[in-house]
Amino acid sequence: MSTEKPSEEQWDIAQARELYGVNRWGLRYFDINEQGVVTVAPLKEEGISIPILEVAKEAREQGLHFPMLIRFHDLLRNRVARINRAFSEAIAEAEYRNQYRGVYPVKVNQLREVVEEILDAGHDYHHGLEVGSKPELHAALALHEDPDSLIVCNGYKDEDYVRVALIGRKLGKKVILVVEKVEEIRQIIAMVNKMKVEPLIGFRVRLMSGGKGKWAESGGENAKFGLSTIDIMRASRLLQEANMAHCLKLVHFHIGSQVPDILTIKKAVREGAMFYAKLSKLAHPGLEYLDVGGGLGVDYDGSRTTFHSSINYSLNEYARDVIYNIMDVCDAEEVAHPVVISESGRALVAHHSLLVVETFGNIKKAQVEEEAVAPTIEHKLIDDAWYAYQNISENNPLEAYHDAQHYKSEAQTRFELGMLDLEVKAEVERIFWLVGVEVLKFFRGAEFVPDEIVELESKYSDQYLCNFSVFQSLLDHWGFGQLFPIMPLHRLDEEPQRRGTLADITCDSDGVVSRFINLYEDGVATLPLHELNGKPYYLGIFLTGAYQDIMGDLHNLFGRVNEAHVYLDEDEENGYYIEETIPGTTMEKVLALVQYSEEDLGRKLKRQFDRAIREDRLRPNEAMRLLNEYNRNLKGYTYLRLE
Ligand SMILES: *Cc1c(COP(=O)(O)O)cnc(C)c1O
Repeated sequence: MSTEKPSEEQWDIAQARELYGVNRWGLRYFDINEQGVVTVAPLKEEGISIPILEVAKEAREQGLHFPMLIRFHDLLRNRVARINRAFSEAIAEAEYRNQYRGVYPVKVNQLREVVEEILDAGHDYHHGLEVGSKPELHAALALHEDPDSLIVCNGYKDEDYVRVALIGRKLGKKVILVVEKVEEIRQIIAMVNKMKVEPLIGFRVRLMSGGKGKWAESGGENAKFGLSTIDIMRASRLLQEANMAHCLKLVHFHIGSQVPDILTIKKAVREGAMFYAKLSKLAHPGLEYLDVGGGLGVDYDGSRTTFHSSINYSLNEYARDVIYNIMDVCDAEEVAHPVVISESGRALVAHHSLLVVETFGNIKKAQVEEEAVAPTIEHKLIDDAWYAYQNISENNPLEAYHDAQHYKSEAQTRFELGMLDLEVKAEVERIFWLVGVEVLKFFRGAEFVPDEIVELESKYSDQYLCNFSVFQSLLDHWGFGQLFPIMPLHRLDEEPQRRGTLADITCDSDGVVSRFINLYEDGVATLPLHELNGKPYYLGIFLTGAYQDIMGDLHNLFGRVNEAHVYLDEDEENGYYIEETIPGTTMEKVLALVQYSEEDLGRKLKRQFDRAIREDRLRPNEAMRLLNEYNRNLKGYTYLRLE
């Protein structure tokens, strides 16, 4: 066995895994193979591993350009199975005397293919749907076919909403209307009498145990949704007066998404279960379901902590805690165990999709030389700076840095006064960056790094230009500072020699990714990346399946990205096939969304061409060719075409 410490040259895949934390956030779905290429195993150890770039290249050959979103449908199915299995195991283990019924909150990713896949994969578990608006309800009602699975209707409701939900009841579906405010009870009672149908009603209770974290505002006394204890008493009385006390079937709460701390969940579940038990004994023995809402988080940064982009618990721990605490409260209150519903969305869909983006340039802020060349110009400032450079040692790295800083700012001052030539200024700055590089070496791997050195390090970082829009594809990074795992999809058999931030192609200074996962709460400012070598360089932005790939914003009119949907298939040569490609939004379509019609634009431009022909500025032949080109282009992709 060698006792030698690995030198910088001995880079291996294990180091790449560690550097990007792929085994920490990837839940064993993602890994790096010996060729240094990122792979996905949609079924974990029960199926094959696919090099992600291979899929991207195949989709490219089918005509899809980058940026490209890839969905792994088997991974989505695997998540559905795992959540259901986690609950059935927890139920068996605790000898809980009822069952679990999951519902998928459609708002987390409304894409029809995603919802259909979840329903299909959840068929054996009777996994149902949760909706929060009329359009979602209309979609759910049509897609949902299993009479044993539920449709839970949350969100504020008008008459139409209630009516459509009751149409579902007429079809024999278990559609549950969850009351968000007391007035909705009257609405439901009126509509039920008109439509002559028995409703299934739920109360959304407002818990005192709120969540922590960035999405926590949905809980607590000031929450936007739900009934206070006083409201609950009023709502219960209204139901009793209408002889509908038995229609109350469900108690629901939702303390927010991405709850980082399992203790918050335990506490909320106990409080919710207490509402269930007390209501059941008060006047509603027909109560049957306790719905614990969403909140089951995703460990985006892989730190397994209560950081905002992490969670300190596993899926199995979550399921066990939900089941145990409901059981504990119900046993103490001597009420029967309810059917447990959870509305997990994020944890179900986050992992199944990723965005592949292509870099197309690298803006280097500080030019670093391979070998330090001695200055050839004579000047006191240059001599002093060079002296500082030559005398850096482990005893004084900070001192050397401060000296170099001083000479640089001195050069700047004299330059502004017209007392210094460009050559001298450039030379002093060149030496400053040389000093910086040396100084940084002394702090590499150090336990404590002073702030000024952290700042210095970020000065050496590059800006990698990436063909995508943060506003379309990574909205929560922009809006909440949520961190997502990002890494190169190839070349991981080489040590990344640079560090950089990512700049998107919107004309917005916020269109950047400048926080990356790490084992610090707010991440780090730069991502280790490879030197561009003239060949395409692809990055993967992972865990974007929840909220991101559906919430996009049309900033600068960059539209939805191209999508490839991948299925595993043992009969295929590579073990998978691309089942469907969905072209991203065309320019024509995004323009139409803001009231520009294709015909109108073409007509307006044609008038200008006609004028140019009349005025002899263009020949008719050329004018028509250019106009056709414009019209053809309108049907193209909104992102850069880099080939
Ligand atoms: C958003 C939402 C969910 C989904 O929450 P996740 O944390 O993504 O699982 C569930 N229920 C309700 C009522 C919601 O508003």
